[in-house]
Amino acid sequence: MADEQPKPTVSIVIPCYNEEESFSQLRTALKDLTRKLASRYETEIVLVDDGSRDETWARIQHFAAADNHVRGIALSRNFGHQVALTCGYDMAAGDAVVSMDADLQDPPEVVLEMVKKWEEGADIVYGVRSQRAGETSLKLLTAALFYRLFHALGRSQAPLDCGDFRLMSRRALEALRRMREQHRYVRGMVGWLGFQTAVVEYERQARVAGQTKYSYCRMLAFALDGLVSFSSFPLRCSYIFAFAFSLLVLLYLLYSLIAHVLFHAELVKGWTSLLLTTTIFGFLNLLSLGLIGEYIGRIYDEIKGRPLYLIKDLAVPPAPAKPPQPPAGPPQAPAAPPRTGRPAGQ
Ligand code: UDP
Ligand code: MG
Repeated sequence: MADEQPKPTVSIVIPCYNEEESFSQLRTALKDLTRKLASRYETEIVLVDDGSRDETWARIQHFAAADNHVRGIALSRNFGHQVALTCGYDMAAGDAVVSMDADLQDPPEVVLEMVKKWEEGADIVYGVRSQRAGETSLKLLTAALFYRLFHALGRSQAPLDCGDFRLMSRRALEALRRMREQHRYVRGMVGWLGFQTAVVEYERQARVAGQTKYSYCRMLAFALDGLVSFSSFPLRCSYIFAFAFSLLVLLYLLYSLIAHVLFHAELVKGWTSLLLTTTIFGFLNLLSLGLIGEYIGRIYDEIKGRPLYLIKDLAVPPAPAKPPQPPAGPPQAPAAPPRTGRPAGQ
């Protein structure tokens, strides 16, 4: 009997930066996952090398040459996790697309639960971390505080404590791909989309090997991207400061006036109060300027309209598992590059 309908494809998108140490374990885990999905789905694995300086790209090429489910994309330099993830999303051709870390912090077996929720109708399935192993208490605390602040200020409906481990349906992904902003806080952007969502809780594991690529500096920049891209509240802070401190100064002026007129008090003193008011107002002026600069810098970056990333090399399977299916996207979305041929920029 002829085969019925072609199986839907699940793409697994993984940005990799200097992940040679965890690569062999990742490869084994992905093969295992592909096997588990095989009865009902085709699997496509999209590995994006984000300008690694170790052997990661060689490992990806090797994997792609040996396994026709695997495609590799090498970016021209290190563009950062969020941009590498965006490139993977652009290249993925699946009906559902899962993104995860290369260090196996996101357990691959959770993908099966995500796929189940997608089958039940969810367009976005968030992986929400119930536990986080192997993270410092400072990282846990700052992350918890940041997510709560982001939630309070922002306009994103992403659940608290979700990272970039998620599944998206093709239509949700196409909607995300229309957002080409330069400073990308992808989890917030996904939360902005709406659609039907579901959550899968999981225990985030410690890295299988290697070090985190997010230093505290990088995390701070990432947090700033999240806040500034999703809220103009910081810009309005200067009103609040101005109002609150002007009130204090007004009270002090009133006090001085009453002391002088009614009680003929000696008012030459006041070095401390003078110093305090000038320093506080100086500080707040600079802070407000800095915040405005932050937003103007981002406007400048957007105006330049540079591509988000450039591709240096592609590693494609020897025999495709399935003919390529260019994502049926809206006109604004850039087309996925061919499976073979010249590298392209996006
Ligand atoms: N990553 C990347 N480019 C970067 C930094 C990180 O592609 O500039 C990848 C990294 O290889 C990993 C994922 O993004 O697959 C998350 O990074 P990491 O595990 O270091 O972050 P953490 O989980 O510690 O927050
Ligand atoms: Mg990680």
